[in-house]
Amino acid sequence: EKGQARVVDLKWREQPVGKRIEHALVNGITEFIEADTEEARLASERPLHVIEGPLMDGMNVVGDLFGSGKMFLPQVVKSARVMKQAVAWLEPFMEAEKAGKPREQAGRILMATVKGDVHDIGKNIVGVVLACNNYEIIDLGVMVPAAKILETAKKENVDIIGLSGLITPSLDEMVHVASEMEREGMEMPLLIGGATTSRVHTAVKIHPAYEKGQAVYVTDASRAVGVVSSLISKETRGTTIEKVRAEYAKVADAHRRSEADKQRLPLAKARANAFKIDWSAYKPVRPSFTGTRVYGSYEVADLVPYIDWTPFLQTYEFKGRFPAILDDPEQGPAARALFEDAQAMLKQIVEERWFNPKAVIGFWPANSVGDDIRLYTGESRQETLATFHGLRQQLSKRDGRANTSISDFVAPAETGLADYVGAFVVTAGLEEVRIAERFERANDDYRSILVKALADRIAEAFAERMHERVRKEFWGYAANESFTPDELVHEKYDGIRPAPGYPAQPDHTEKVTLFDLLKAESRIGVKLTESYAMWPGSSVSGLYLAHPEAHYFGVAKVERDQVEDYALRKGMDIAAVERWLGPILNYDPARYLKAAAE
Ligand code: SAH
Repeated sequence: EKGQARVVDLKWREQPVGKRIEHALVNGITEFIEADTEEARLASERPLHVIEGPLMDGMNVVGDLFGSGKMFLPQVVKSARVMKQAVAWLEPFMEAEKAGKPREQAGRILMATVKGDVHDIGKNIVGVVLACNNYEIIDLGVMVPAAKILETAKKENVDIIGLSGLITPSLDEMVHVASEMEREGMEMPLLIGGATTSRVHTAVKIHPAYEKGQAVYVTDASRAVGVVSSLISKETRGTTIEKVRAEYAKVADAHRRSEADKQRLPLAKARANAFKIDWSAYKPVRPSFTGTRVYGSYEVADLVPYIDWTPFLQTYEFKGRFPAILDDPEQGPAARALFEDAQAMLKQIVEERWFNPKAVIGFWPANSVGDDIRLYTGESRQETLATFHGLRQQLSKRDGRANTSISDFVAPAETGLADYVGAFVVTAGLEEVRIAERFERANDDYRSILVKALADRIAEAFAERMHERVRKEFWGYAANESFTPDELVHEKYDGIRPAPGYPAQPDHTEKVTLFDLLKAESRIGVKLTESYAMWPGSSVSGLYLAHPEAHYFGVAKVERDQVEDYALRKGMDIAAVERWLGPILNYDPARYLKAAAE
C-alpha cells in the first residue's frame, strides 16, 4: 500500500503459524496470508482442516472482539478479505482432493436488495460480517424480483432470507415478498434491513403478511450475527421467535395508540394554515438562463472539499460527527484507519480519473397554484410546461406553526411575481458498478464497499457544489455568498434542494417529471427503476427553491381527503397514489373502502 512509510513491527512473524494467521485476520493484513496458509496446509492432513482449524479459530477471535465492541465494521471487512484470500488459496487443493465431505458451515443465507432498489452497501457489509462467522452467503445483488428470491431460496435450501432496501417503495416490495413466502407455505425467517425500514414497519406491515414464518428487523450489521445464530439454532429458535412476536405485538399496539392520539386536520384547514411568506417584500431573481444545461466533465478533485465525511463514517456504523469522531477514545483509531484508506483511494480516484461526474440542471419560470408548482414554457406564463405536486402536512399543530407544503416556497400565481424554480440530477458516474465488481472478483470486498461508499459521497458533494454554483452563478440569487465547506454541509445558505421521495415531498413518482424535464437519461445516463430509484445508485436529484425562508420539513402522514385531491391533480388513480404513498397514509385503504361500502 502507498502512503507514508510506517514503522512496521514484524515481531508477530516469529510466532507459530496458527498465531500468525490469527494476527493477520484480526489486523486485516493480507501481505503474508498466502504464504502462511500454504505453510498451514503443508502441515495439515487435508486443506479443509486449515479452514476448520486456524482460519476459523482466527475468525472466532475476530467475532468475539467485534461482539464485545473492541473491533469495528471496517476492520471486520478487512478480516473477511484476509479470510477470503486464504480460502481462495486453498480452493484448488480442495478441488484436487475432490473426495471427502464439503466444508461445514453454520448456515446458508440468501441476501437481496428488492426489486426497483439499487442500494447495497449495507447489505454487502452484513453479508461480509455473516460470512466471517462461517455462514454461507448467496447474494443475489440489487433489483431482485420476489419470484427470483423465492425460487433461489427453495432451490438452494437456504436457512434465512435477508432483504434490503433504501427507498420507501421498497417497504411495500418487502411486504410483497413476505406475502409471497406466506402463499408458498415457506417458513424460514425473513430478515429486514436498510435505510427506510424500521421496527415499526416490520411489526405493523411485514410481520402480519408472513405469519407462517417470521419477519425480523435487524437494526444494524453488528446485530446481524446474534440474530441469525439465534434463529438458526434449533435450541433457541422457538424462544427467539416468541420474543420477537411479543415485542412486535407491543410495538404495533403502541404505534396504533400513538397514531390515534395524533390529530389530523381536514385538507382545507391545513391549507388555511399554510406557511406564509410575505411576497410583497420579495423580489425574485431571474436565473442567468432558462431551460437545461449539461455539465458533462467534472473533475472529482474539485468536489473533494465538498465531501461530508460524517455520513461516510455512518455507513460503517461509527457513531458521532466528523472530525471529532477521529479522536474518540474507542472508535477513533478504527475510524481514522478507515478515513486514511478512503483518502488513499480518493487520491487514486482523482489521479487515475476513475469517475466521470456529470450533471444536468435547469431553470424555468414558475409559480405556485394551490399546492402545486407550475412551470411555464416562457416568461408570458401562459402555457404550462410541467407541474410539480406538493403534499401538505396535515398534523394539527400547536403554537402557531404552519402546515407546510413545498409549494408554499414559490410565489403564488396571483401575486403576479415572476418567480422561478430549478431542478437537477447529478451522478458520480456510471463507472462505479464496474469498478466495484473488479474488486469483488479479486476477493476484495473491503475496496468494493469502499469505492461504493466514496461514489455516494462524490455524488452528494457534487450536489452541494452544483447548488453553490447555482446560487452564485447560474441562478445568481446569492452571488456574493461565501461559506466554508463546513458551513455548506450545515446548509447555512439561502434556499433548499428538496429531493422527491424525501420527507418534504415523499412521492417518488415526482421524479418522473423531474427526469423528463431534464432528459436526465439521454443527457447524463441516469435512469429510474420501476420503483423510481435512480440508477446508478450514486446519483442525487431534486428541485432548487430560492426563497430564503424555504426550509426542509416532513410531510408525515396524510389523510384520504388529501389523497383524493392529489390523485385528481396528478391525473392518477386513487389506488395508484395509495400504493406509492403507502408508508405515509394515515389510514388503511382496504378498511376505508370497506367502511365506505357499508
Ligand atoms: N451533506 C449531506 C447532504 C445530503 S442530506 C451528505 O453529503 O450526505 C441533505 C439533502 O437531502 C438535502 O440537500 C436534500 O436534497 C435532501 N433532504 C434532506 N431533508 C429533506 C427533506 N425533509 N425533504 C426533502 N429533501 C430533503
